[in-house]
Amino acid sequence: MRPLIATIRLDHLRHNYLLARAAHGGKTLAVLKANGYGHNAVRCAQALADIADGFAVACLEEALQLRAAGVAAPILLLEGVFEAAELAEVERHRLWLVVQSEGQLRMLEGANPAEPFRVWLMLDSGMHREGFLPQHYRAAWQRLRDSGKAESIVKMTHFARADEPGVPMTQAQIEVFDAATAGLPGEESVANSAGMLCHPRARRDWGRAGIVLYGANPLPAGYLQGDALKPVMRLSSRIFGVRELAAGEPVGYGSNFVTERQTRVGLIACGYADGYPRLASSGSPVAVDGRRSRIIGRVSMDMITVDLSDLPEAGIGSEVELWGDAVSINEVAAAAGSISYELLCNIKRAHFAFE
Ligand SMILES: *Cc1c(COP(=O)(O)O)cnc(C)c1O
Repeated sequence: MRPLIATIRLDHLRHNYLLARAAHGGKTLAVLKANGYGHNAVRCAQALADIADGFAVACLEEALQLRAAGVAAPILLLEGVFEAAELAEVERHRLWLVVQSEGQLRMLEGANPAEPFRVWLMLDSGMHREGFLPQHYRAAWQRLRDSGKAESIVKMTHFARADEPGVPMTQAQIEVFDAATAGLPGEESVANSAGMLCHPRARRDWGRAGIVLYGANPLPAGYLQGDALKPVMRLSSRIFGVRELAAGEPVGYGSNFVTERQTRVGLIACGYADGYPRLASSGSPVAVDGRRSRIIGRVSMDMITVDLSDLPEAGIGSEVELWGDAVSINEVAAAAGSISYELLCNIKRAHFAFE
């Protein structure tokens, strides 16, 4: 078996969920979209079943996968429905849904459910991606209530920059939210992970915890104790080739890395086809048998070359951590000009081991 393994520590997932919910107070949806940010949504939902207040996914297909696996808890569709026909499934599986546009509101008004829906009505408080603008929100809320198609309406919005604590935009979005929803009854939900962790005014009835569940800190260093979150995914592989190169020799595609000294190169089974970011090339951290080293040369489709010059005990069969405990995924994301979210979602081809 190719030794690329994504070890998913479900106990860490539970720890992180409880930490996020305690920070926020109130109830918290565990966000499992994109197959649980690449961690396997069904396994994550099952691991959280006895502690989570509910789950959130992007779309109906993702929710049906959870229901088919026996997940009975509330599940919110964060994108709502794409066509009116989906509402029958929403009703049959007792899903909750976001309504974020005039088109979706009309679909609900035109539906004939036996039981009214549980709706989360999205306000565009400044991110300008989805939701009703502040001047239209109240009318949308009123139409929804008058339609009789909503059993309850949770007032919600989403932050654009909650992961930048010094930036005033989040406070401004909260003020827009409070003004646009003033006097409308019902529960509220405004915070994603970063909002839950560091914006006290974002603490409302429901938090929506995504990246924090998986143990990747969305905040800059210093805003959360370093070890408060526990990384859930540990991506590891093994060395299956070793060579000694003299100084001045190129390594890999494009020959854009050239050895500066006598160099021992280890070859590991992982590449961009596995979801490891190709842009994280020479210099990006890895840990060989727990000791940190770095990638040299470009990341290939199925292989990566690493520097073993200072690790004489490392050789064929040595374990290499791509991210997890010795190497923070945020370091790799920074090296690749990306974010932990994207790296995690892309891990689809590894062998998954749950513990
Ligand atoms: C993805 C998503 C979240 C979770 O965001 P994180 O930054 O991963 O916590 C919360 N709310 C909405 C609407 C989302 O789409």
